[in-house]
Amino acid sequence: MTGDCLYDVLILGYGPVGATMANLLGQEGHRVAVAEMHPEVFEKPRAVNLDQEALRLFQRVGLAEQISNGCVPHFGTNFLGADGELIKAIYSAPPPYPLGWPANLMFIQPEAERLLRKRVETLDSVDVRLEHTANAFEQTGDVVAVSFDTPSGTRTVRARYLVGCDGANSPTREWMGATQTDLGFSEHYVVVDAWITRDTPLPSRTTQYCYPDAPTSYVICSGNLRRWELKILPGERVDDYNDLSRIKTRLAPFVEVDALKFWRSAVYHFDARVADAWRKGRAFLAGDAAHTMPPFLGQGLNSGLRDAANLSWRLTYVLRGMADETLLQSYQTERRPHILAVTEITKDLGKIVGETDPARATDRDQRLRAEMAENGPVTVRQALIPPIAKGFLDKVGGELAGTLAPQPRVSRDGESRLLDDLMSGFSMVQLAPGDKLLAVTNDLETGSSTAFTCHDTEGLLTGSMRDRGIKMMIVRPDGVIWSAGGDPVDVIERLYAAFTKPVPESCP
Ligand SMILES: Cc1cc2nc3c(=O)[nH]c(=O)nc-3n(C[C@H](O)[C@H](O)[C@H](O)COP(=O)(O)OP(=O)(O)OC[C@H]3O[C@@H](n4cnc5c(N)ncnc54)[C@H](O)[C@@H]3O)c2cc1C
Repeated sequence: MTGDCLYDVLILGYGPVGATMANLLGQEGHRVAVAEMHPEVFEKPRAVNLDQEALRLFQRVGLAEQISNGCVPHFGTNFLGADGELIKAIYSAPPPYPLGWPANLMFIQPEAERLLRKRVETLDSVDVRLEHTANAFEQTGDVVAVSFDTPSGTRTVRARYLVGCDGANSPTREWMGATQTDLGFSEHYVVVDAWITRDTPLPSRTTQYCYPDAPTSYVICSGNLRRWELKILPGERVDDYNDLSRIKTRLAPFVEVDALKFWRSAVYHFDARVADAWRKGRAFLAGDAAHTMPPFLGQGLNSGLRDAANLSWRLTYVLRGMADETLLQSYQTERRPHILAVTEITKDLGKIVGETDPARATDRDQRLRAEMAENGPVTVRQALIPPIAKGFLDKVGGELAGTLAPQPRVSRDGESRLLDDLMSGFSMVQLAPGDKLLAVTNDLETGSSTAFTCHDTEGLLTGSMRDRGIKMMIVRPDGVIWSAGGDPVDVIERLYAAFTKPVPESCP
């Protein structure tokens, strides 16, 4: 698809969020252009940790198996105080995994991005435009037009919607005039990725050395790849770390440096910002364009993928004429408060790690040890991620509305599948006798509904519904529960009304 065509969606930025968005929209048959200024995938990893939600999303685009193949489980993180003893421990949730995928996996970002792009190439309705640098934006009537500098001159791409997945310095955000709220975190770290080349003593868990004289993170990555994040100390300059010998000196207390083969090092400014408006007319922000946060809980990309999951089905419903544009407004209503909550947690962890004042570090250690004594020694990572509090949810949908629906492995007609593979659009799931589920799911293309029964092989969803006294739930296309409990006829009526008589929402 080339020339002067009008795309349904132009995705600006072909990083991991843009590539996921291109897959999600392209597989629905929308005419999508995805434009990127660089010719290739950025070869250096930033994100290393994928959540279960991200894997569930990759399942929707048929890539979860491939992406998880090269991954290793994340076993959690120990935080060591100034005296080198434990002050906090975060673990990943153990099996059975409620969303159908391991709670956390360590992955190699460029490899995952290549898989995402390879799949985009199989989608006829998606045009990829590399070496396109956006330089001007315009919105007139129902069309957004973006002009690009390309090796063969200026090109303009027109679309009904624009999604800016164009990173922390987002030109889309700038054009939208969206201000950012500074959430109050600003620290510089040098990030070092290296392979271990021989046996050498290292912790068996990812470790935060919360030492006031040298805050350092040690991250166990995929294969024999390891990451260290070294806080740039008061009085040091960023440029001091251009020199590998300075990096080696900082690493020496934590690892036998001659056991390492260095891949790369780079200084990052870890900050926390959120865009105040995620939408202007027909343009949206997603991923780092909408929010940045320090990486201490590995949530930047995972949050960007939540954005893609949340926005893509809304665009699909609107583009298909199955919902009106007010549905798009609840994207920000849902995602921005979620980001604020997740960012607070990551900031708190960052402050624990990065404390450089010895007296405050001592207070911190006492406080965290007291918390461990009171609450138990372990924080479960997944329990830190909040549900959606407000947005396109059934207003009387019960306390599970806004949480993620469990995804069981089911057998249907003798075949074992994860439940999402059998669902499409908004789906109703009902308890049926004998650990069975009755699901009604609608085909987004034809609008027709299909009902089927399946056996919840391990009783994951049936057990959870029974424990909560719930007989039915409505699950959105992004796996979020729209409503749980109640009378199916009433709930379906409310869902129908939500689409046909939408209530306009105002955004912060
Ligand atoms: C050290 C570190 C560790 C991290 N660890 C984790 C982790 O473990 N887990 C996690 O979830 N997150 C982590 N993150 C965060 C994560 O890396 C980012 O949130 C994620 O990569 C952002 O993806 P994105 O697609 O939104 O943006 P980007 O990857 O920045 O992609 C934006 C794209 O837009 C393109 N672009 C920009 N301007 C233009 C233009 N004018 N024209 C055309 N194209 C343009 C860029 O070239 C780029 O390809 C970490 C970050 C850092 C720095």
